Amino acid sequence: MPTSTFPNDAIVIGGSYAGLSAALQLARARRRVLVIDAGVRRNRFAAASHGFLGQDGRAPDEMAAEGKAQLLAYPNVRWLDGTVDMAVAEEGGFRVSTDGGLTERARKLVLAIGVVDELPSIDGLAQRWGRAVFHCPYCHGYELGNGRIGVLAVGALSMHHALMLPDWGSTTFFLNDAFEPDEAQRAALAARGVTVEAGAVARLVDTATVELRDGRRFVMDGLFTASRTHIASPVAARLGCAMDEGPTGAFIRTDAMQATSVPGVFACGDAARAAGNVAISVGAGAMAGAAAHQALMFG
Ligand SMILES: Cc1cc2nc3c(=O)[nH]c(=O)nc-3n(C[C@H](O)[C@H](O)[C@H](O)COP(=O)(O)OP(=O)(O)OC[C@H]3O[C@@H](n4cnc5c(N)ncnc54)[C@H](O)[C@@H]3O)c2cc1C
Repeated sequence: MPTSTFPNDAIVIGGSYAGLSAALQLARARRRVLVIDAGVRRNRFAAASHGFLGQDGRAPDEMAAEGKAQLLAYPNVRWLDGTVDMAVAEEGGFRVSTDGGLTERARKLVLAIGVVDELPSIDGLAQRWGRAVFHCPYCHGYELGNGRIGVLAVGALSMHHALMLPDWGSTTFFLNDAFEPDEAQRAALAARGVTVEAGAVARLVDTATVELRDGRRFVMDGLFTASRTHIASPVAARLGCAMDEGPTGAFIRTDAMQATSVPGVFACGDAARAAGNVAISVGAGAMAGAAAHQALMFG
């Protein structure tokens, strides 16, 4: 193994599902890994996480805590609570600094920084996010028990939601002055049994009851909508990583090995996909960790 003056072989920025998974592969390859984590996971609003094999229905923070404990059992892993505010390339590697004034250096970087959701601005929606208002039917649709499901339109993308949701319950599509289906789209919605309601939404009340500005009320068991997503930290952009534009926001461009456009920088999880979940983030993290390890073998 080549010797290195760098104190870390790799720094993983973001210690949630993707970052923990990446760090685990590096740890098991006996590399010196530092994980720096701000501790603000995207799914922190939900009481339970679904759809990840072996962990279905588990509390999101329990899953992450168990992953962290297993990772920290490796003596070659260090953990730092904090926010990375700067990462720059330097000869042979990278220098990273945190909001707490610490500076660390490593030969490779893994960005597992996640995304932040920008929610539609509707009175009562943010308080229900992750509890009665969701974006992912695979994550939270089943628990609505085939009940009354609303879809809040934010644009053309919402057609996709409205057409999917009937598999999870009787679906009402609230156009909210944000989208107007054409004739073919109305026919497709009707074929899926979706009720369409025009008019602006004023607020959400009770569990997920939708109140329109014209005063009509629709009692719902759950509501689905799409957020705009933003990469949770500017570090990727500052490093010069190329981005792609997804349907809800930009994400870090990676290849099949999770390598970004910047040599030595890998990215995984929601920050490096158009749309993700825990299982996909863990898979991409495993790939990023293995790829970072293999890159370490050669420089
Ligand atoms: C309400 C809600 C419910 C969800 N429910 C489910 C579900 O049931 N099942 C499912 O599979 N998926 C679910 N998801 C999706 C899931 O949360 C994400 O796919 C998953 O969290 C992505 O993992 P990640 O590691 O990429 O990012 P995150 O889990 O968001 O973690 C990113 C981590 O990086 C840290 N970070 C960011 N920037 C920095 C920085 N500069 N320095 C240091 N640390 C930094 C953050 O603080 C955070 O700890 C849900 C999402 C939402 C919004």
